[in-house]
Amino acid sequence: MENENVGAEVKLIDLNKKYGETKALDHLSCEFHRGEMIVLLGPSGCGKTTALRALTGLMQVDSGQIIVNGRDITMMNPAKRNMAMVFQQYSLFPNMTVQENVEFGLRVRKMPVEQRTRKAREALEMVGLADQASKYTHQMSGGQQQRVALARALVLRPEVLALDEPLSALDAKVRVQLREEIRRLQQQTGSTALFVTHDQEEALAVADRIGVMKDGKLQQLAEPWRIYNEPANEFVATFIGESSRIPAVIRDGVALVGDQQVPVLGTSSKRSNGKATILVRPEAVQLQLAVEETRNAENCGTVKEIQFLGSTAKIQVEMVSGTALTAQINPSEAMVLVPGQRVSIQIEPKAVLAVARDENP
Ligand code: ATP
Repeated sequence: MENENVGAEVKLIDLNKKYGETKALDHLSCEFHRGEMIVLLGPSGCGKTTALRALTGLMQVDSGQIIVNGRDITMMNPAKRNMAMVFQQYSLFPNMTVQENVEFGLRVRKMPVEQRTRKAREALEMVGLADQASKYTHQMSGGQQQRVALARALVLRPEVLALDEPLSALDAKVRVQLREEIRRLQQQTGSTALFVTHDQEEALAVADRIGVMKDGKLQQLAEPWRIYNEPANEFVATFIGESSRIPAVIRDGVALVGDQQVPVLGTSSKRSNGKATILVRPEAVQLQLAVEETRNAENCGTVKEIQFLGSTAKIQVEMVSGTALTAQINPSEAMVLVPGQRVSIQIEPKAVLAVARDENP
């Protein structure tokens, strides 16, 4: 199926939705560029699915606007929106063959038989199931059924492809394979896509941009690398990736940890001077075996646990202050470490992800 650049430009403007006292969407605004895959990520109940349902018209918002290619579709019937959905539970028709399932949407649109048979065949080829067209879905694995659901969505050449936790029902290996395939097909077809997941690795792997949500509010919308390296706030810093919390003193945009000075970047640098807790990624922590006498006790610690993870190693360290710290280092460096050993701790410059509210009075 050739790329016809079908992807729409989408604007969600100040969407609000309440269920009783629960704000499922709280002033949600977000723009999708043509052909972009935005992943909404967040803990259970943060409003991801509500946002997807609002976009596709399965639910009406209390206020706000949805603009697609410059046209206000907020009140438009879902059947009239040129969008297709893929759900966690494939939602295929059990009494139809794979081919009939994929053709279904085209039949509803009254496409002539010959044309729709050809298009369904092309879509099945795209997902690698051309030879399974005459099977019934119960004769297929979960991964294959989800491929059929994908073909059924893509055959419609939707302006917007909405994927609601499409991989959650699959086992780990199939999940990784299929997420790569979804990404490839979305790029190939040029659809604009909204992908909802609570799995951060999945989000980092497939997104052009990730929108992190909490309590119906968008916390940050940015490229995966920026979300990971420059989180907008403490919630994003702790929700994505691993981090250690280290007591520090903030002075004029610099965090002091013992004798070390680590610049604080971004929004966190605006925090006022005084005691605070900084968040640091494991890969930004270096350990040195030789403990220099001149080093401040606060920059020293004891190795508690060593975990070899193949290409990397994780070391749990207890700082002299009692703080638990995780360092991620080369396995070759980890080989010389043993539990109980004293190490000196070095935090890389630019390593401070966020400054948390004071836990260190
Ligand atoms: P999950 O990952 O668990 O699916 P989510 O981030 O997709 O969560 P939503 O399903 O969008 O979250 O729900 C957001 C909030 O709105 C939750 O507190 C949920 O309980 C509430 N909610 C959603 N749909 C309804 C409904 N039909 N009736 C009442 N409350 C609802």
